[in-house]
Amino acid sequence: MQLPADYHMHTPLCRHATGEPVDYAKRAVEIGLTEIGFSDHSPMRQDAQKEFPQLTIRLALEVDYLPGHEDWIRELAALHPWDYFIGSVHYVSDSWAIDDPQKLSEWKTRDSFEVWQIYFERLAMAAESGLFEIIGHADLPKKFGHRPTRDCTPLYEKFLAAAKKSGCAIELNTAGLRKDCKEIYPSREILQLAFQKGVPITFGSDAHKPEEVGMNFAEAVSLAREAGYTESCRFAKRKRQSVKF
Ligand SMILES: [Zn+2]
Ligand SMILES: [Zn+2]
Repeated sequence: MQLPADYHMHTPLCRHATGEPVDYAKRAVEIGLTEIGFSDHSPMRQDAQKEFPQLTIRLALEVDYLPGHEDWIRELAALHPWDYFIGSVHYVSDSWAIDDPQKLSEWKTRDSFEVWQIYFERLAMAAESGLFEIIGHADLPKKFGHRPTRDCTPLYEKFLAAAKKSGCAIELNTAGLRKDCKEIYPSREILQLAFQKGVPITFGSDAHKPEEVGMNFAEAVSLAREAGYTESCRFAKRKRQSVKF
């Protein structure tokens, strides 16, 4: 079995990650990955690529999607011949990033379903915008274990329909397994709906240190297979290709 590419990793250029790009590449080769993508700006790719010629290294950005900031994202896109953009929603208001542990108290003043609603509305807008190849960690609000009791299926449906329409993929992000929710992003339910709608997938560890590269990919691959998937996407200069896994 060929492991899928790890398309979501951060380097110290993000300021909250450790290890040099070359260390991430080394780890990727050790565990048998053939392709990775740095999803922040990484001018050190050349060194990593020189040292590990057998590994395909893509250059990408994880971009925060904020409604009204689309022109800025287009400006970023024009700066470099990127391989792909991951569009992620972290903010549900100007000041609250739902994944920020410093802002955990915000959850006490909000109804979980309301947060889910705002989050998935923004995610649908991100998918619809055509600015991204991949939507990051699709059900991030579950990170700390908050879950609405109401049925969220209509929210998921609307988001996935937008992704299908604009041809954008969703990622299986294994970082959720390392958080309180102890679950891959997105949930099995969302992934099954995504497969039914024909939304393509990618895989990402969201590594913030070299040891996390490709982490729990076997589990992610099983989940994807159980949902019906046999192929994932790879991107070069923002062009998509499907590869069996
Ligand atoms: Zn993110
Ligand atoms: Zn990330």
